[in-house]
Amino acid sequence: MVGGNMEQKIKLFFKTLFIKKESPKKNRQIIDMIRWGREFQRLNLAEQTTGNLSFRKKEGFVITGTGAELGGLLKDDFVEVLKVEKKNNKFLVYAKGKMFPSSETLLHWEIYQFRKDVNVIFHLHDLSVLEKEKELKIPSTQKEKPGGSYELAQESIRLLQKEKKINYFILKNHGVIVMGKSISGAGKLVKFFNQKAKTLTKQQVVN
Ligand SMILES: [Zn+2]
Repeated sequence: MVGGNMEQKIKLFFKTLFIKKESPKKNRQIIDMIRWGREFQRLNLAEQTTGNLSFRKKEGFVITGTGAELGGLLKDDFVEVLKVEKKNNKFLVYAKGKMFPSSETLLHWEIYQFRKDVNVIFHLHDLSVLEKEKELKIPSTQKEKPGGSYELAQESIRLLQKEKKINYFILKNHGVIVMGKSISGAGKLVKFFNQKAKTLTKQQVVN
């Protein structure tokens, strides 16, 4: 966790209501997420406090907290999101945890609602992939929207309505969303495209 400056820059588009100030129990999934977080930082996909990881629960999901550093996740960096309510265009997130849920909570929520086959969502800033977006032929949202906004979530769902089976897409000028049935499946997909993008970059240098 980093304090101060970083956190002040994050704009939250929702209010959080804590049902309980207790973080989720450390289980297999949390241990796996901690391990993948380290791997993503090693690959430079999670600079400072960017990026967020989540996995589905029976109701809602568990997500990394706002300001959490993926490279050094601790048990208390995870927050359970029970549900999201929309009232007069304002969003209320019901949570259990010691940290505020990721600023991209609305995006994760909307994807879990729309794609019932998805159990895991990773959001990362893979700059190598963004640079090679065209060559890699990765689907992308059409319009750039502010990070954390409901508009960004809507723009993503618009893409998922068109591209029904994709598990990897680009948030225009921002980052990537990777989905999976399992944590390791989503993690491997992150690495697959990252490696492909880096290979393309290397080839360019050689030519
Ligand atoms: Zn982001």
